[in-house]
Amino acid sequence: MMSDSFDVVVIGGGPAGYPAAIRAAQNKLSVACIDEWKNYDGSYAFGGTCLNAGCIPSKALLESSELVHRAQHEFRAHGISLGEVSFDVVAMQKRKAGIVRQSTQGILALFKSAGVTPLQGHGRLLPGLRVEFTAHDGTRRTLQAKHIILASGSQPMELRSAPFDGQHVVDSWGALEFDAVPKRLGVIGAGVIGLELGSVWRRLGAEVVVLEALPDFLPMADGQVSREALRHFKKLGLEIRLGAKVTGAKVENDEVAVSFTDAKGEQSLTVDKLVVAIGRRPFTANLLAEGTGVEIDERGFIKVDDHCRTAADRVWAVGDCVRGPMLAHKGKEEGVAVADAVAGLYAEVNYKVIPSVIYTAPEIAWVGLTEEQVKASGRAYKVGNFPFAASGRARAMEAPAGFCKVVAAVDDDEILGVHVIGPMAGELIAEAVLAMEYSGSSEDLQRTIHAHPTLSEALHEAALAADKRAIDCLNK
Ligand code: FAD
Ligand code: NAD
Repeated sequence: MMSDSFDVVVIGGGPAGYPAAIRAAQNKLSVACIDEWKNYDGSYAFGGTCLNAGCIPSKALLESSELVHRAQHEFRAHGISLGEVSFDVVAMQKRKAGIVRQSTQGILALFKSAGVTPLQGHGRLLPGLRVEFTAHDGTRRTLQAKHIILASGSQPMELRSAPFDGQHVVDSWGALEFDAVPKRLGVIGAGVIGLELGSVWRRLGAEVVVLEALPDFLPMADGQVSREALRHFKKLGLEIRLGAKVTGAKVENDEVAVSFTDAKGEQSLTVDKLVVAIGRRPFTANLLAEGTGVEIDERGFIKVDDHCRTAADRVWAVGDCVRGPMLAHKGKEEGVAVADAVAGLYAEVNYKVIPSVIYTAPEIAWVGLTEEQVKASGRAYKVGNFPFAASGRARAMEAPAGFCKVVAAVDDDEILGVHVIGPMAGELIAEAVLAMEYSGSSEDLQRTIHAHPTLSEALHEAALAADKRAIDCLNK
């Protein structure tokens, strides 16, 4: 008979919850992790949005579609002729599903090895550090815990003027599941999802129109990066309409008539599928019983302090259901930090150095402050830029687009932000994150030996360029 008493109960088995459970078990605590995720095929799986409907499936399709695009547009430059390039969306989707299955089953294996008790079903926080667990077959148990970690994640936001119907008007999960390339695809929101999934279906041949409400493109990124990115997305064939306010979406005759207004007035657009990707909201439905003491803020996030403590004693919350960027690695760091804290170990999340990556081509990644943010702060700064066109490795890879940019303080040379648009930007940014984690200076990067020929030399040269000492490009 399984015990109903644990040191730690985690509600949510996504990238915030499952690492929390594993770390708590590594800290010799008894742990249960409850998760209710249900897939389209009716199967239950740990891993949350990230593994089942987010990071992993999107990257699988980004990779497949990028290969198609390169075979069509790049191979010739290498002297490779393939004739007509054909592809099979159903096979791509099958590959994606296999990767997802392997990843989610991997969590169960990790739980088993760490000694975490997996519980598939719904968890509801009760007062007095108790959790009501309802298994998928309807059976109920009450668990008692010394600490409870809420990691219930987020869900897509709906647009009243374009409600989801699961068929023609879909969320990001729906857009990851198309079994054929839509001839005309509309995307509402030019954020991370809109650009990643818009790229996938554009590369596979869809005509893609992206409607973005804001007048500026990618305002959260460094301005120089946003401008460069917009140029490349246009070259790919994404039609990005800025300042577009969607007023309606009508499904008729197997197509969607979208109406919107922009600077030119009332507009319309007809597409075969419409993806609404306007952000995500915290998910806390039926999570909290009366009287738990946990508080929710005006935007629906569970209120926490800098250490992820909620207003209720020994109840913690991590990941997308709390403030901060909705990123898997942010949730993981919070989950692990809380699992260490409850075991009495030192734990801290450095919110200043959370990297962001957009997995398009060229890839976009940054950490720290944009040049605009540094300028607004009034601190004197210097900028070093290095174009990938000047990198031998990037040229050899047929990937000369984009640049590395280092923004550093004039007074003490501290690195304030690093921005990369170009090949493998998401991998390159890790070095900048490490440097900033140790409060590194641009001189630290300058004095670090980088292997030749590598893409990472671009970051090295950008750091040198901040002091006008770059070797492989003009110091402007
Ligand atoms: P979730 O992953 O949402 O997991 C929460 C889990 O808790 C779910 O399984 C849910 O079913 C379960 N749950 C909720 N309430 C209960 C309850 N009461 N009882 C039991 N179970 C419950 N982030 C990145 O960092 N990199 C990327 O490349 C990236 N790509 C993305 C692509 C897409 C298309 C999307 C949609 C998101 C992407 N994200 C990416 C964001 C990332 O998926 C989220 O930030 C991350 O999944 C949040 O983790 P979480 O554990 O907080 O929540
Ligand atoms: P987002 O916040 O990145 O972008 C939403 C976009 O929609 C914004 O540009 C916003 O201005 C626009 N918008 C909002 N309302 C609109 C409206 N009514 N009409 C037109 N445009 C509108 O959100 P997302 O792309 O939906 O992604 C959700 C979350 O998932 C984000 O927090 C993101 O960080 C995360 N995510 C991360 C990755 C990654 O790390 N590579 C990939 C996908 C998703």
